[in-house]
Amino acid sequence: MEETKSVDTRAISERLESVRERIEQACQRAGRRADEVTLVAVSKTFPLEVIEAGYAVGLRHFGENRARELRDKAKQHPGRVNGGDLDWHMIGHLQRNKAKFVARHADVFECLDSPRLAKELDKRAAKNDRVMPCLVQVNIAGADQKYGLPPDETHDYLDHLTQYEHLDVRGLMAMAAFAEDPEDVRPQFRQMRELFETYNATGNSTVSMDTLSLGMSNDFEVAIEEGSTMIRLGSALFGPRDYD
Ligand SMILES: *Cc1c(COP(=O)(O)O)cnc(C)c1O
Repeated sequence: MEETKSVDTRAISERLESVRERIEQACQRAGRRADEVTLVAVSKTFPLEVIEAGYAVGLRHFGENRARELRDKAKQHPGRVNGGDLDWHMIGHLQRNKAKFVARHADVFECLDSPRLAKELDKRAAKNDRVMPCLVQVNIAGADQKYGLPPDETHDYLDHLTQYEHLDVRGLMAMAAFAEDPEDVRPQFRQMRELFETYNATGNSTVSMDTLSLGMSNDFEVAIEEGSTMIRLGSALFGPRDYD
């Protein structure tokens, strides 16, 4: 973030246009409407100037994977929870001692994956007098992913979360394994949709999930075909990152 190169707003605008076309086409193939899919622009590692350029061309959801980085950026350009008109999504693993930053500055937390974190985040959200929209992160990629719940524990965890008045569990999030060919991870997305639908159909009736956050730059079209309602795109919008 130190070195501030001039921001190429036109390049961002052109990438966004191409991404929107690809979203539209994936939706058509799946018989879905493009407005069923929320585009989260993953701005991690990029300076605020890039976020402002994205905002100027119409982006309204931004994703960060480090709590302090999200806080610092959201202080400059507040999210809806603090009176702004964009949504900050926390899309990375959260340590409990940083839950306070997320409760204060993030509009959505996408990575709930343990009872202890839920308890802490509920407490912090209560302190900020708010109900925090959350997604439960599921590990569908197996051994090479560190975070997220095993799929077969997800429904019990969703039941467990109903005790928290300051968490509003809206749905599920997952990252597929990296694949050269995104067709290879289609079964992982399909498994996520099944987890989502079976819980909505048979799980705790006080929870009605509407958000399935699946798909990144290299696999979002397949994710949309399999039912994703929220895609998280970094490099497809902003170009390559120096680090993660
Ligand atoms: C970095 C990141 C993304 C975006 O990755 P791209 O490949 O640049 O689209 C999406 N989701 C999560 C959780 C991430 O950490």
